[in-house]
Amino acid sequence: MQRAKQTERRADVAVIGGGVIGITTAICLELRGYSTAIYTAKIPFRDEPSPEFATPYAAASIKPASVTMSRQQRALAISQEIFGFLADTGSMGVRQQPHFVLHEEDHSDPEYADTVSGFCRISEIEQYPHRPNANAVFGWRFNAYFAELPVYIARCYALYESLGGVVHERSLTRETCRNLPSDVLVNCAGIGSQEIFDDQRPWMIHVGHQVLVDGLPLIRTDSGDLFSYNYTPHPDAVADGFAGEVYAYPRMDTLVLGGSRLPVALEDDWDGHIPGVSRSVGDVEVPARIVTINDELLDSYTGISIETGNLAGRYGFRPVRDPDGDGVRIERESLDGRPVIHNCGHGGAGVTLSWGSAVKACELVTEVADPAPTPLSVSREFTFARRLATRIRSDYDFGR
Ligand SMILES: Cc1cc2nc3c(=O)[nH]c(=O)nc-3n(C[C@H](O)[C@H](O)[C@H](O)COP(=O)(O)OP(=O)(O)OC[C@H]3O[C@@H](n4cnc5c(N)ncnc54)[C@H](O)[C@@H]3O)c2cc1C
Repeated sequence: MQRAKQTERRADVAVIGGGVIGITTAICLELRGYSTAIYTAKIPFRDEPSPEFATPYAAASIKPASVTMSRQQRALAISQEIFGFLADTGSMGVRQQPHFVLHEEDHSDPEYADTVSGFCRISEIEQYPHRPNANAVFGWRFNAYFAELPVYIARCYALYESLGGVVHERSLTRETCRNLPSDVLVNCAGIGSQEIFDDQRPWMIHVGHQVLVDGLPLIRTDSGDLFSYNYTPHPDAVADGFAGEVYAYPRMDTLVLGGSRLPVALEDDWDGHIPGVSRSVGDVEVPARIVTINDELLDSYTGISIETGNLAGRYGFRPVRDPDGDGVRIERESLDGRPVIHNCGHGGAGVTLSWGSAVKACELVTEVADPAPTPLSVSREFTFARRLATRIRSDYDFGR
């Protein structure tokens, strides 16, 4: 990946932030015909992760998730379609795999049943991961897109740079933001937005713990497919005072286990408290159930014991904006007379909603600046980008 060292050229649009939202938005803008530059303090999977830099923690399933967002179903539909397109290229680190949503209490069908592919209710408990002591398991399965995130993000950066995008790795302040050489600013700085731009709405974080397990075979169904799941034990069955789901997602080099979702106001420093029983994994304290329940599930279903792998614990912050109001911030305002488009605050669904949000943010940019009518130039490696550009330019009307 080449980092810009040359004198900064003026771009139509400066994208602030290089997480999944920033890189997706920047690609979308390039495909629409804008010249862009990304300004970012950190690049995922290249720079050291830190809890407030969310992208490296995403599991990263593309499936409906609990976040508040205007026209969320539209954003999800666009994202799913583009992830489907990227999966078809076979070169972007995106695949489709069976995903199971399992509960020990009965649940009615989810709202998204009609918007995901291959949705069906499960009936035979033995055919799915379950705790051996569970009396019953209810739920559904569908085919979810899944981004092999370290590969996917690296491929996105390569695509972006092949389209002509430039990356400046630098931390910005309110002041330095004002001097960026561009006609439009697009704010994709995640939690960092709060240090740069004003927002009347409240922000919070949802702390998420994970355990990464290396050295295990890939988890597969009986028919050989990689699979993932979310599993919610009966609240009375797990006597550790910490109810809620656990999950497992296989990456090629590691198994990602979660989860927790601890709400903390942004202005409060998280004190590290974990409700219920915790254990130390590596140097990090995590809810013990991430290991114990996932171990029961995987051992009974695949015969794989988590404890035989190399375990590393960690936690990251989901950037949640205005959870009881507008939610995700995709809107236009102006800073010293220059248009600013915000695209931030995606909570636990930044990967899932990335393409839909990028399309929406691009629409807001088109309201204030015209793209150059120059033909798209792409390297042979990314010829599929021409078809993607055609779709993004003509097919996706996000609407209001
Ligand atoms: C444990 C966990 C599991 C998750 N699982 C999933 C999942 O399965 N599916 C899913 O869709 N989502 C998931 N998420 C949520 C997802 O990670 C976030 O929604 C998403 O990464 C947000 O992306 P972002 O680009 O807005 O923010 P970030 O990834 O935080 O990126 C912000 C960018 O802005 C830059 N920046 C910030 N401040 C400045 C500044 N002052 N100057 C310059 N640059 C700056 C940063 O360097 C960074 O590049 C999960 C999150 C966690 C914590």
